[in-house]
Amino acid sequence: MVGTSTFVDIAVIGAGLAGCCVAGALARTGTCLTLIDVQDGRNRAQRDFRAEKFGADQMALFEALGFGPALRACTTATKEVVVVRYGRLAYREAAREWGAPYPALVRAVREALPPGLLRPGRVADLTLGPDRQEVTLGDGSRLTARLVVLATGLGQALHARAGLRRCVLSPRHSLAVGFDMAAPRDRFPFPALTYFSERFGGRDAYLTLFPLGSVMRANLFCYRDPGEAWVADLRRDPVTTLQAMMPRLADACPDLAIAGPVEVRPIDLTRTEGVERDGLVVIGDAFQTACPIPGTGVSKLLTDADRLARVHVPAWLATPGMGRDKIAAFYADPVKRACDTHSLRASIYARGLAVETGALWRARRLRNRVARTAIHVAKSRLVP
Ligand SMILES: Cc1cc2nc3c(=O)[nH]c(=O)nc-3n(C[C@H](O)[C@H](O)[C@H](O)COP(=O)(O)OP(=O)(O)OC[C@H]3O[C@@H](n4cnc5c(N)ncnc54)[C@H](O)[C@@H]3O)c2cc1C
Repeated sequence: MVGTSTFVDIAVIGAGLAGCCVAGALARTGTCLTLIDVQDGRNRAQRDFRAEKFGADQMALFEALGFGPALRACTTATKEVVVVRYGRLAYREAAREWGAPYPALVRAVREALPPGLLRPGRVADLTLGPDRQEVTLGDGSRLTARLVVLATGLGQALHARAGLRRCVLSPRHSLAVGFDMAAPRDRFPFPALTYFSERFGGRDAYLTLFPLGSVMRANLFCYRDPGEAWVADLRRDPVTTLQAMMPRLADACPDLAIAGPVEVRPIDLTRTEGVERDGLVVIGDAFQTACPIPGTGVSKLLTDADRLARVHVPAWLATPGMGRDKIAAFYADPVKRACDTHSLRASIYARGLAVETGALWRARRLRNRVARTAIHVAKSRLVP
């Protein structure tokens, strides 16, 4: 491979969900492309705590991009979730969700790609221009493309090589915690549970329990600092810490014993600036990260992949050149912008409701509580 050079229309760097989805959708239209990832699947971490479930809107987008069957086959589906608010208002909600560990989701979409599309390797350097892009891999091999799609997630190295700046919009915005419950899923009195913080203003968002195969998985989301004593307490004695956090949780979930390691991931909200470059387009987390509390990361990357593959890339390839004026159309795309803006606003608003103490936020909390209580009372299917 060393020293060899190949030409493709599109080089997609990063085969996470974003890169795979755009590459798969483009391959189906007959575009000449390659997808490069440092992790070829065998060396992808078995545990990489990221998005572990998605809903019907995201499944519709996966379907549209051609990944529906692959994802149905690797996920555990649920049709109903018990929702508990304020520690007592509970109702059953018809909500279709599909769950799997993140590495399994990525493996499934990779396996659904046309054979030979994914090329293992670490991209070490990029040389960008208005017509031709040169991609250099760590082993010295090179390829030339008309367009580079950067889908490298939280990776920093290529941002620096391409002259992009990752701006932190909200540092240590939230904390995501994942663990397995000890009891098998069929021992729980619900198919899935979303248990919201019992009180507003307490820096906690919600706990969600959902099945992954025979296991009941837990994701706990809050607005705490990874360095604070609460995190050490949670790792040392998760059950006592959970009970102190949500005293009425045991009413909804009598068996709180935990089996697996407690995985803790701090979440920064970031956006990449200076993205309008010749020959390069940035998507998914590489463009803007999302807070898992509103759960918009997967919608955002799917929207990027869909708009790029269906609208922008076909138009860009139809005319000569790949200058930044063409690329700018993607970042100005109203569907993409609305999705990114909604993701950011929802993340900031949810945090404000949980942590802010000013009069405006207190009034919003009160308004939400009154509105939600009225809605719940109106629902006739209250859980006894
Ligand atoms: C703890 C946690 C929980 C979350 N929960 C949710 C949720 O419930 N709902 C939701 O919607 N979102 C959630 N998210 C967000 C969601 O997981 C991300 O938005 C999504 O995984 C981003 O996918 P991506 O393809 O952009 O990046 P990634 O999946 O990170 O893919 C990037 C790929 O690029 C490759 N790469 C990097 N550098 C190079 C290089 N130089 N050369 C070659 N390859 C390279 C990497 O190997 C990797 O495979 C969560 C995130 C976290 C951290």
